[in-house]
Amino acid sequence: MTAQTPPRWIRNFVDGRFVDPDDRCFDAIDPATGRVHARVHEADAPLVGRAVTAARKALDTWSATPVRERTEVLRRAADLIEARFEEFVAAEVADTGKPVTLARDLDVARAVANFRTFADVIAAAGQESFLTDLPGGRHALNYAVRKPLGVVAVIVPWNLPLLLLTWKVAPALACGNAVVVKPSEETPGTATLLAEVLAEAGLPAGAYNVVHGFGGGSAGEYLTTDPWIDGVTFTGSSATGARVMKTVAPRVRPVSFELGGKNAAVVFEDADLEETLDGLTRSVFANTGQVCLCTERVYVQRSVFADIADGLVERARSLRLGSPLEAATTTGPLISQAHREKVRGYLDLAEELGAKVLTGGNTPSLGAVLDGGSWIEPTLWTGLTNCDRPVREEIFGPVAALIPFDTEAEAIDLANDTEYGLAASVWTRDLRRGHRVAQAMNVGMAWVNTWFLRDLRSPFGGVGLSGLGREGGASSLHFYTEPTNVCVQL
Ligand code: NAD
Repeated sequence: MTAQTPPRWIRNFVDGRFVDPDDRCFDAIDPATGRVHARVHEADAPLVGRAVTAARKALDTWSATPVRERTEVLRRAADLIEARFEEFVAAEVADTGKPVTLARDLDVARAVANFRTFADVIAAAGQESFLTDLPGGRHALNYAVRKPLGVVAVIVPWNLPLLLLTWKVAPALACGNAVVVKPSEETPGTATLLAEVLAEAGLPAGAYNVVHGFGGGSAGEYLTTDPWIDGVTFTGSSATGARVMKTVAPRVRPVSFELGGKNAAVVFEDADLEETLDGLTRSVFANTGQVCLCTERVYVQRSVFADIADGLVERARSLRLGSPLEAATTTGPLISQAHREKVRGYLDLAEELGAKVLTGGNTPSLGAVLDGGSWIEPTLWTGLTNCDRPVREEIFGPVAALIPFDTEAEAIDLANDTEYGLAASVWTRDLRRGHRVAQAMNVGMAWVNTWFLRDLRSPFGGVGLSGLGREGGASSLHFYTEPTNVCVQL
């Protein structure tokens, strides 16, 4: 954007209409340059209340809409995102600074897949029934009818904004719910574009509402304290998840939490070196390390430690930081200056603790325009242990500690020595060991010889500080519906 271009507006969307901005506004910053690229209308408490009321009203129509018609709306939404693909990509890139190739291949492509998958999942969903034996040869038939949860508050973070939003909105709408979504204040763009798409796809007014703003004392808190929401699905940090849980506790509303991670990779000496290095490079540095599933702890069997360390350093150095619009760019900035300060704090701490910096550790200079952005070098450490804070706390940046181990049992202990429990990856040619170690990981998702390979029908979520409940496939249908069991004596 040039200095003369007035920033565009990003508005709230309530009851099927965009709301005109008033004087409660904040800036949307392009993290690649630090420049303001849009002004965002912040929702106040009455507007959030109106969004919830609109959603309640829309429930009557949408929950009564036959499943086949609902799936048609979802499929049309997928088609319309595809038709406006580059617009979604541009909005995601402007908000996050991520490389355009990543936004295309991951974020927007997955949004399309989310709508199609949950249309398929709801269309194929059945119900369990039980025939109960009674004395005297009689029976009872038990079956459960599933009803929508109601008005669902959807709160999402900034790292994969559209992907994570549609991962929740698609199944919630498929099940007949109405939603009020609160995107991250850092990334308001694509949730707003999605409002246009869903309206054009034929979703009734009020079934999808967007309220913009921050957490405490803003739209996030107004939404979670609203007495008329029926459940909260939240993706974000563990600390915020705990806060949201407290907020909704007095009204005992169901929550689904996808929270932080401190994920381990375990590399055995028999692993395919090239495949492992390629996989580790993705798992440590994808999206500048800002994926909840990213690896920040790499445990490597001692006999191959030097090979893995050297290979990973070489790959980290070959990553191309630069303009998100250039096809050759592999790595974008961190989301904000504030987040870079947090990551830099861990870089300083690691050095104070005596870590050896194998590569990175600094703020790069990328030229006049990009130097206003929140860039950081991909960084690898050795010399840290599981006792050190950079190995225990989620950093959420392009950083990892490499730590050696000798035996399989030691590797499992090290990987499980964390309060988090989101994801892990195991690298070995020995399939038995792959299964064994993956199953021993105290996490929601464990991969063998791959990372972030997702079948959207499989359960996704974490244990410990990493979350509560699962979404994906039938697990999503369970969260977004309430069963009523009917027992008929025959
Ligand atoms: P965050 O917790 O700061 O914010 C997440 C969302 O919650 C934002 O929309 C924010 O405005 C809102 N929020 C903040 N305080 C709130 C409050 N008191 N009440 C209601 N809403 C509130 O997280 P973030 O910095 O945006 O995202 C990064 C975090 O998200 C990391 O910890 C990462 O691991 C996690 N994450 C987890 C998953 C997963 O699937 N497990 C996926 C992506 C990101």
